[in-house]
Amino acid sequence: MNTTDWEIHRLERAAVRLQSAETVDNGLPEVPTVEAILGIANGAGEFEWERKQALADIESVLYRKKAGRAGEEAVEQTLTEIVFPEGSRVFRNVSLLIRKGYRIEIDVLILTPSFALILEVKNIAGTLSFNEEEGKTVRIRENGEIDEFDCYVHQLDRQISGLNQFLAIHRITLPVHGAIVLSNQNTVIKKRPETLPLIYRKQLARYFRRLQTADLTLSETAAHQLFGLIGIRAMSADEQPLCTEMNLNPLMFRRGVLCLGCNQRIQAYQGRGWYCRKCKLPGREAVRQSVEDRLILIGPEITNKQCREFLMIGHRAQATRILKSLSLTKLGEPPGTVYRKLGSGRLEWAES
Ligand SMILES: [Zn+2]
Repeated sequence: MNTTDWEIHRLERAAVRLQSAETVDNGLPEVPTVEAILGIANGAGEFEWERKQALADIESVLYRKKAGRAGEEAVEQTLTEIVFPEGSRVFRNVSLLIRKGYRIEIDVLILTPSFALILEVKNIAGTLSFNEEEGKTVRIRENGEIDEFDCYVHQLDRQISGLNQFLAIHRITLPVHGAIVLSNQNTVIKKRPETLPLIYRKQLARYFRRLQTADLTLSETAAHQLFGLIGIRAMSADEQPLCTEMNLNPLMFRRGVLCLGCNQRIQAYQGRGWYCRKCKLPGREAVRQSVEDRLILIGPEITNKQCREFLMIGHRAQATRILKSLSLTKLGEPPGTVYRKLGSGRLEWAES
């Protein structure tokens, strides 16, 4: 899973946990809770407005991330159709540390023996207007709504200048070019940028051919040295739980083991284990995902008690079994034992 896919996964899990229980229909007759019969708010109600707001925020971030990912995929597809000169390499999701506190991130970096090319990929629908002097890129949607973004030209300019500094520090001579690439062929451009090229994805091959020269600036040795210096944006093992990152109240999240098919809360049945009656699906993966949800949404560590509370299970031994079956590292002695996820990304089963 790459970093963007992982970010999308975390937001998707948050969205599932922020859905109100009523909007998820498991097709079974609803047994009213004691609180509901007595007309008492069951806790979730307290955060109703806050929860809806958080869900809307997360869905909008998720929408942008998914559009960005789709744009990257379309550009990646186009890149596979280009014949690169021998000795070239294409890097995606590059992260370069120029100096302490100054890092640049590049969507696509193409290194050839005669030049470097940075692509800033944008997947935007509507009409775009580049107002460089105001430092803004403006998008007008079909319905007339206007959004303002940080100027794409400035973003790209910062990356070009960063890469130039990076090359200078490592005493590598290589001309650096950059282009903003629109992955959506239907984006209309009202005002073009004046200082840097803007191209549609389908013009990429032609644009690349025009940059090609016969001079080989980069020796094979220098190329190898450079390839070794390029860092790929890695998933951070010490990433913050989403609650901390987005300042969300952890009490808003739905608890329980949620079916991966219908997102409805499921239970463990005697002799059958975890099972969704509606989807007729086993729930083993749903249990793994629920523990992962607690770790990525609420806190980087989980105790037996927190596991019981979040998964809504009654027995200490059952929680212990679940925690021991997962790739978690156990810290401290009882009763202070906590479990922490090993490595970055997905929580795995212990045996795999
Ligand atoms: Zn289900």
